[in-house]
Amino acid sequence: MYDSTDSCGGDQDPGTPGADQGLPESGADQDPSGSTAGQAPQPNQGPEEVRFLVDSTAGKLVRWLRLLGFDSTYSEQAADYRLVHRARTEGRIVLTRRRSAAALPWGNAVLLESDRLDDQLTQIARCYAMPGRPMTRCSLCNALLEDVSGESVRDIVPPFVYKTASGFSKCLGCGHVYWQGTHSSRITERWKTLWELAGSE
Ligand SMILES: [Zn+2]
Repeated sequence: MYDSTDSCGGDQDPGTPGADQGLPESGADQDPSGSTAGQAPQPNQGPEEVRFLVDSTAGKLVRWLRLLGFDSTYSEQAADYRLVHRARTEGRIVLTRRRSAAALPWGNAVLLESDRLDDQLTQIARCYAMPGRPMTRCSLCNALLEDVSGESVRDIVPPFVYKTASGFSKCLGCGHVYWQGTHSSRITERWKTLWELAGSE
């Protein structure tokens, strides 16, 4: 397994309160998906689960992490200390390409080594020994999905999808409907490949 603490962040427990707790949050630091910050623990969140805060240097990553089931929020915050402070407050690990943000000694951040999405996902798979739970979280707003019957979404999804999909789920936050099909299988397969690749290094 991979053993570099530099590219995985040193502190595995980002939730510890520190001396920086009094810093005000910036109004400009908003999640473009509209999800609220600091969500309460959710039903299928195990104690071993880590949560991420992705910054604008790795924007594509946040959607993929959510599709893979990881609790992930997004921030366009430009000030390193505010970004890292928000992550600390929410118990999240910062994923960034910004060396200056990853270097803050009181934060918990992973400096992403590559611009390529696959490389970034592989690095995360190496750093955090979690299998992920594909298709359990909304890629748009980060809320959890619940299984629903085909009948309940019959008027929402295309007729072809209604007939052929093997299962449906709906976002508890924004109501977006997902279905089991080729796309979800590809996501699961892609993560499985990256996961196996990371484990064999
Ligand atoms: Zn949603």
